[in-house]
Amino acid sequence: MILVIGGAGYIGSHVVKVLLKTKEVIVLDNLSTGHRWAVDERAVFVNGDLGNVEDLKALFSSYSIDAVMHFAASSLVGESVVNPMKYYLNNVSSTLTLLNTMLDFNIDKFIFSSTAATYGIPTTDLITEDTPTNPINPYGQSKLMVEKILADLSKAVDMKYVVLRYFNAAGAHQTGEIGEAHNPETHLIPIILQHLLGQREQISVFGSDYETEDGTCIRDYIHVTDLANAHILALDALINGSKNTATYNLGNGLGYSVKEVIEMCEKVTGKKANVVTGDRRLGDPAKLVTSSDKIHNELGWNTEYSLFEIINTAWEWEKSRVDNLDLINN
Ligand code: UDP
Repeated sequence: MILVIGGAGYIGSHVVKVLLKTKEVIVLDNLSTGHRWAVDERAVFVNGDLGNVEDLKALFSSYSIDAVMHFAASSLVGESVVNPMKYYLNNVSSTLTLLNTMLDFNIDKFIFSSTAATYGIPTTDLITEDTPTNPINPYGQSKLMVEKILADLSKAVDMKYVVLRYFNAAGAHQTGEIGEAHNPETHLIPIILQHLLGQREQISVFGSDYETEDGTCIRDYIHVTDLANAHILALDALINGSKNTATYNLGNGLGYSVKEVIEMCEKVTGKKANVVTGDRRLGDPAKLVTSSDKIHNELGWNTEYSLFEIINTAWEWEKSRVDNLDLINN
């Protein structure tokens, strides 16, 4: 059985759906940001906290867990700058409690959600796993700390792991059952689409004086189902023993500026956005685009969704939520 911590969240809930094709799944989530409705009903659901050692012990004693996937984290760059303690407590301290309890129960396979924010301001145009890490915000720092702890652990004790550094996850499940539902929403694509649906007055572009072609930040947007598929490959590699430790970047290898994303949203929806330029957001690097050659070459991962398709699935999802206010508010 695979334990998915944070399986009620945006990325975790998509991974649960893919995992269920071949595995039994148990989800641990405290529902602080996740949603009970997002958890596929075929998975066992436990409402608990990964920082609570009693919750973990109860779970590890009751179920036979082969591997743990860990998605439960605070993940907002701007918030991490103003409230770093939240990030070190939720992302580092709780993960240590989890890893320590896993060791007590001899659970030795771990998939860790990390981030492009570990790179800080990258030294190259196209990031690879060899690009030096140098986070410029507490969110990236907190994830890198866990990566370093994992590296030390794996040398000393029985702990096999894959670190997956996500670039910008976006889009929704192709069935329309689940998608992005943060409250409050801070991510670019849902914000643009909610504006185009009439739920927000305008879109604010956070800075137009970056050293990029149009002055706005460039990111590498990757569909959440493509991300989910990478987790399955990583898990298989741990289970079949082809990997004991690995770190992979997950992106499409294509950079889109904030302005280009807005234009693509206008194209997908056929609607015109009201855009204003605001101040830069704290902790934002100008450009984050990755090569995903390593995971393609080693595990055979390929991406299927273009930016157009990412936005198209997100648009279908946002439209469907209009008819269900419960999903927006819970
Ligand atoms: N962004 C923006 N306006 C918004 C939300 C985001 O200009 O209302 C920008 C943000 O500064 C960043 C990019 O869009 O350059 C992607 O931000 P998001 O929060 O979606 O993801 P992040 O890169 O922080 O993981």
